[in-house]
Amino acid sequence: MPITGGCLCGKVRYQIAVEAPLAVRQCWCRVCQYLSAGGGTVNAIFPKAAITVSGETAVYASIADSGAPMRRTFCPACGTPLFSEAEPRPHRIIVRVGTLDNPELGRPESVIWTRSAPRWACFDATLPQTDRQPAS
Ligand SMILES: [Zn+2]
Ligand SMILES: [Zn+2]
Repeated sequence: MPITGGCLCGKVRYQIAVEAPLAVRQCWCRVCQYLSAGGGTVNAIFPKAAITVSGETAVYASIADSGAPMRRTFCPACGTPLFSEAEPRPHRIIVRVGTLDNPELGRPESVIWTRSAPRWACFDATLPQTDRQPAS
């Protein structure tokens, strides 16, 4: 069974031909706080070769807090953030966990960019934390 998901309005759909993500991280970088309307984002990492996307998407390119050029894909009709891709890691695609048909697959295994989290941020203190971008 592939992993499936899509945007809020349903115009963009995707399938990922793997059983599980390579990793799942909660991210509190400043960019993610814009994307999530205040909280951190939760992101599942997959091999890019495994994903098939249907429907029209739009891309916003910018420089991440890590300094890496990033492409962030969203639905132009409903604005849902769907994916991000970092130029230094072209073989990976990062999927916003809120867009998975089964968000249970996206339980975070670590928390990153804790240095930019607001003091009121809530995250699981038992998870490994990195104050910036992890090395891999
Ligand atoms: Zn949409
Ligand atoms: Zn982030």
